[in-house]
Amino acid sequence: MTILVVGSAAFDDIETPFGRAEHVLGGSSIYFSAAASLFAPVNLVSVVGTDMPPDAYGFLAQRGVDMRGLQVEPGATFHWSGRYDYDLNQTITLATDLNVYAGFNPVLPAEYAESDFVFLANIQPELQLAVLEQTVAPRLTMMDSMNLWIQTDRDAVERVMRRVDMVSINESEARMFAGSSSVITAARRILALGPKAVLVKKGEYGVVLFTADDYFAVPAYPLEEVFDPTGAGDSFAGGFMGYLAQAESLDAGTLRRAAVYGSAVASFTVQAFGVERLKSLTRAEVEERCREFRRLTEVGEI
Ligand code: AMP
Repeated sequence: MTILVVGSAAFDDIETPFGRAEHVLGGSSIYFSAAASLFAPVNLVSVVGTDMPPDAYGFLAQRGVDMRGLQVEPGATFHWSGRYDYDLNQTITLATDLNVYAGFNPVLPAEYAESDFVFLANIQPELQLAVLEQTVAPRLTMMDSMNLWIQTDRDAVERVMRRVDMVSINESEARMFAGSSSVITAARRILALGPKAVLVKKGEYGVVLFTADDYFAVPAYPLEEVFDPTGAGDSFAGGFMGYLAQAESLDAGTLRRAAVYGSAVASFTVQAFGVERLKSLTRAEVEERCREFRRLTEVGEI
């Protein structure tokens, strides 16, 4: 089973209480691919400017990520600058420069069209739709978004939601989208648009999976030191969808286990700045952390 991802590829400037990283590789499609490629083959669709050295993303090709859908355009790569204070759940965006995204026309290489799983990572919703249009009968589609697009292009975000099987969204963005302070009400409103599952990401408090007849909560792995939460959401989605792509079925138990795998991968991402920890991460390390998750949540007979 192959996974198609469209999303941003970026130069990020990140500041946390523990340090700063400037002009480092980031972007939603990059974090997602680094995580998902631990489980299944990934086809990437994104754009970088001529200022991005190919060496920066070479590790993805080494992991087997198909980069034929990565366009290189004259100009500057998408740039995001963000800051976190001691509450690492709160991302403060300082700058978003679309640069080469402003004129991006995502054209899928012919080999990508029949990808089995599709992840529409955070990017302009119109671009998510343009990619969805070019896919042929995927088994499962999932989208992510963020406050910027919910505020500036809500209709398009909703149009994407109506067309996908699953939505992954931050807690505060779910509330903003649904106009409700209750996350449960927000998830129900998104489910009512058509998706079969909604994953609400709650940062250091974990993730909740909502379907019509299931509610499942996974705690975040208890780390004493979180250096940089950037990319936690995208690498969660990569671990989640990667696990599904290599599973035998998509039943309720498999979705629950996928949420644990996603949480395990994300817990590594935040232990270093940018994609550094994901570069060296192995499947065996993820498996070991999943076993720890199991021990953490085991309650025995009640
Ligand atoms: P997250 O997993 O939510 O922490 O995503 C972090 C990544 O999202 C960063 O590497 C940014 O480059 C990227 N990003 C930030 N803002 C946007 C945006 N408006 N559109 C697409 N990607 C973005």
